[in-house]
Amino acid sequence: MEAPKINGSTRVCGLFGYPVEHSFSPAMHNEAFGHLGLNWVYLPFLVHTDHIKQAVDSIVSLNIVGVNVTVPHKQSVLPFLDELEPAAKLIGAVNTIVNHHGKLIGYNTDGRGFVQSLASEANFQPRGKRAILIGVGGAARAVAIQLALAGVKALDITNRSQEKAAALACQINQAAATTVNTIPWESNELEQSVATADLVIQATSLGMAPQVDQVPPFPFQALTPQHLVCDLIYNPDQTRFLREAAAQGSRTMNGLGMLLYQGVLAFQLWTGLKAPVEIMRQGLQQQLAKIGG
Ligand code: NAP
Repeated sequence: MEAPKINGSTRVCGLFGYPVEHSFSPAMHNEAFGHLGLNWVYLPFLVHTDHIKQAVDSIVSLNIVGVNVTVPHKQSVLPFLDELEPAAKLIGAVNTIVNHHGKLIGYNTDGRGFVQSLASEANFQPRGKRAILIGVGGAARAVAIQLALAGVKALDITNRSQEKAAALACQINQAAATTVNTIPWESNELEQSVATADLVIQATSLGMAPQVDQVPPFPFQALTPQHLVCDLIYNPDQTRFLREAAAQGSRTMNGLGMLLYQGVLAFQLWTGLKAPVEIMRQGLQQQLAKIGG
């Protein structure tokens, strides 16, 4: 990619996080801007927790188009925004801010990115289906709520810290038509749940590089070729969880699609243009190749 030609008309967007230097988002978005010939640039902003209010205020004062928000600011930005889209409100976290004529609107494209990746990468529509979610961290929460909004019929959740799973189940049961149950960690009940599930999502950090041998307890023997098994991890591209699932004949999908489509959706919110998905995918893959993922 050629270096962007910055001038007085360049539109700026970026990323607020701490740290930010390992993020793939600048490469993904700048590839897209370059491909479409847009005079836009995406910059990483290293924002310390103590400065998050000033950073959010600066979006308006510096006429920044919008930003992505990553760890540890996805929740702490909420009080400084003017409006939240419904999904972000339910998830309680924002990963994309849009500066709409001086009004800051918070979105969460993580869960929607996952649901979009199911459709685009695996031809899977969640409506009326039964799913199992392993893990209840920030990413899992966004995925669970978006699956419920997308019409999943039943969702079984299991997590090492069971009280977190119970809290999420309670929230979704109140907000959506999905029936959500919690399953104790390492319990035999999981095997019965797998027998009727269509979709399994591994959303813990177990198996992420460099700890690639880790895997949550799971009855892999209950999987069949009818199951779609996803892991939100994209480095390594095939986690041990996905390899065990593939050995049972299940279809598998890693987390690269979620990362791609959360970016695609943010790009569209900022520019109003159709995102060049394959160019953005290449941007991500080049970054992964650099780190040996
Ligand atoms: P997080 O908020 O820190 O949550 C971590 C989750 O993993 C929790 O459910 C936690 O359980 C569980 N966990 C961690 N260590 C464990 C262990 N030793 N044994 C059992 N459970 C353990 O992290 P996150 O942001 O949700 O990220 C989770 C994964 O998703 C990461 O691998 C990340 O790379 C991936 N991710 C992917 C995307 C994407 O776009 N594809 C986006 C975000 C995240 P407890 O609640 O019991 O601690």
